[in-house]
Amino acid sequence: MQKRKVMMENEGKRPSQGRNPLRRVAVLATGGTIAGAAESGTQAGYTSGKMGIDAMIDAVPGIRALADVHGEQIANVGSQDMSFAIMIRLAQRINELFAADAADGIVVTHGTDTMEETAHFLNLTVKSRRPVVMTGAMRPYTAISADGPLNLYNAVSVAADPAADRRGVMVVMNDRIHGAHSLTKTNTTSVETFLSPVNGLIGTVFYGNVAYFRRPFRKHTYQSEFSVDGLTQLPRVDILHACADMPADLIECSVERGAKGIVIAGHGNGNMNAATIDTAARMAAQGIVIVRSSHVATGTVSRNIELDDDRLGFIAADELNPAKARILLMLALVKKRSLANLQDLFYTY
Ligand code: GLU
Repeated sequence: MQKRKVMMENEGKRPSQGRNPLRRVAVLATGGTIAGAAESGTQAGYTSGKMGIDAMIDAVPGIRALADVHGEQIANVGSQDMSFAIMIRLAQRINELFAADAADGIVVTHGTDTMEETAHFLNLTVKSRRPVVMTGAMRPYTAISADGPLNLYNAVSVAADPAADRRGVMVVMNDRIHGAHSLTKTNTTSVETFLSPVNGLIGTVFYGNVAYFRRPFRKHTYQSEFSVDGLTQLPRVDILHACADMPADLIECSVERGAKGIVIAGHGNGNMNAATIDTAARMAAQGIVIVRSSHVATGTVSRNIELDDDRLGFIAADELNPAKARILLMLALVKKRSLANLQDLFYTY
């Protein structure tokens, strides 16, 4: 069954050798370990965001034979310093390039720490059917067996592939193609850090040879109702991590500091202790949006299982981990919405 599906997905796809070398791929760089440098090839410590995009592209053999590649530096930060200001600028620039028909596909280089957050943000705000492919590296450019050059080569291969259209924002790392909705970072240092545990991979890419398994199931990019047009800031939404004997007043502190929504990175299926439930329900009654997600690595958070969400006024994050649930909620709270509508968004995106 799976095999048949793979064959169907690849139907009509040209082999890599037949790809039009003139397809235009813009590489927008934001920094990260892929642009990182250390004193020596075996040094564990390094500084993210040291190399410029043109030097990175020039260091990848054969990349200019894949596509007409053009680099542009958007930022140069370790992705722990990725901000919504940079994400908004990035989404606006991608929309601008596609609207002007200045690129057939776009690659975004990015640190892996917050890659899934920016990928999800772009998946909700890019307005195009054309491919946006993010990539990064776990090892700096100067390391022995650096993974960045091949990741960049593979990312450009996917971005230059017409069959990559309408698959939303993807992340290419370590020969895998992940969907923005599904991927998550699972290892602090290994090159096999990203997994898509809930939904599986979009496909694979092996030295530029691309194979697809599926399209994303949820709405994204050109189907999305969210927009960065004229957007300069987003409402504050905080994430609170559930733990044994969690102090419930953290919720009050967040609200006092201006949070309009709170995502609970709950235990298991989005659980929290009784004191936190009481405080969260009190805040929900005052109009603060409470979303239950989970700090567990995989699985969904469903409504009305151990908690009566209908009575408490809570939202279930469904497939989104806390960081991605927060981003969806921030974009959603740009305008006023009912709880029913907010819950529906978590089933849709
Ligand atoms: N902190 C770095 C970053 O996210 C390291 C992770 C990486 O890029 O691999 O930029």
